[in-house]
Amino acid sequence: RDEQIEFIKKTIKEKNVRFIILQIADILGSAKSMALPITQIDKILNNEVMFDGSSIDGFARIEESDMYLNPDLSTFIILPWKTHNGYTNARMICDVYMPNGKPFKGCPRYVLKKALEKASSMGFDFFVGPEPEFYMFNVDEKGSPVLENNDKAAYFDMAPMDRGEDVREAITIALEGFGFEVEAAHHECGPGQHEIDFKYADALTTADNIMTFRYVVKKVADDFGLFASFMPKPVEGIAGSGMHLNMSLFKNGQNIFFDENKENGLSDEAMYFIGGILKHIKGFTAITNPLVNSYKRLVSGFEAPVNIAWSEKNRSPLIRIPAKRGLSTRVELRNPDPSCNPYLALATALTAGLDGIKNKIYPPEPVNKNIYEMCLEERQENHIEALPKSLYESILELSKNEIIKDALGSHVTDKFISAKLGEWENYITKVHKWEIEQYLRAY
Ligand code: GLU
Ligand code: MG
Ligand code: MG
Repeated sequence: RDEQIEFIKKTIKEKNVRFIILQIADILGSAKSMALPITQIDKILNNEVMFDGSSIDGFARIEESDMYLNPDLSTFIILPWKTHNGYTNARMICDVYMPNGKPFKGCPRYVLKKALEKASSMGFDFFVGPEPEFYMFNVDEKGSPVLENNDKAAYFDMAPMDRGEDVREAITIALEGFGFEVEAAHHECGPGQHEIDFKYADALTTADNIMTFRYVVKKVADDFGLFASFMPKPVEGIAGSGMHLNMSLFKNGQNIFFDENKENGLSDEAMYFIGGILKHIKGFTAITNPLVNSYKRLVSGFEAPVNIAWSEKNRSPLIRIPAKRGLSTRVELRNPDPSCNPYLALATALTAGLDGIKNKIYPPEPVNKNIYEMCLEERQENHIEALPKSLYESILELSKNEIIKDALGSHVTDKFISAKLGEWENYITKVHKWEIEQYLRAY
């Protein structure tokens, strides 16, 4: 710690840092931040910075609103761009603490750390590589986004069809400035849809990185006069945006999902992990797919999963096992979307997988056929269940799943469920244009 502090102080001097941005995530996964002038650096490093927790949605009640921001020193980074005033700023991601010195149970980072502790007590390190997708839209004269994609290109297209190349390059360079190793950036299926993949890391780093990623993508798109959105299904009739999670468990530096003696190269642990995910997926779909709109992505025909099954090849099931083995053996969970709270999503997916290992839950046979093309009977014969069809259904499933609720803790569970029920109640009071088209004349 002393060494880290020394490094931070030295870098601040060298780079002439003017402000320190302290960042946290709220329960719904929005980034919140506060900028402190560099004069406050000792206070920051001594964990003495306070904020009003009751002003952040789902955090705390007014009576216990004083909270502390304890920066995670390993997340210190110089922002890779000048601010509007030409200053250099630095950023640190924080854990939220209570005045009594205990971690705040409503802090999403705390929830993930708890789940990771459970994994490490079983001897495992959890690694995750995400594949976030997003759309870029044009903006009108007032700067508001319009539902007009910035190009007409499709999967892997190139310029000039692909008008996102320059933006993706600028995003990639900015991400590298944040210390990311970007592995690939490409145009996705939808017009104006893109994907940028970065290297897998331990789950806490990956969750922090997803927060940073969303901020960087939006900021750079804005610099180009575009609006980037992580809304799961912004335009009907074309692909939605997912955020597949590639997950693996390591023990002593070895990927324990790989077993060369098994025909499919997957160890018992990998199979049980899949079994646990399949068992609990309904219980944590509200976390990985948290918006009313998330369920408009989870429909047939757009490479998004609809059914609870796994496959070694096909892209229609919930879980796919990419072909690579050895150190790269991984389980790709395909339902999460990029609007989720990454800390809670990784914590619940891990918890489900570990429950599979603990209780030796063996998954059913893989389904290597296109499930979209199966009729209901065929799915029933194969015991293939569907994912929740709405936010409401997934909230009910969450409220019934003790393992997932326990992983979230009662504070986060209660705040999350009440926020999401409110969102749902609000949604169902609205009359949709589809209903008018279908019903107004017919009845
Ligand atoms: N956009 C698809 C989804 O909604 C995923 C496409 C892909 O396989 O990368 O999940
Ligand atoms: Mg993709
Ligand atoms: Mg993928």
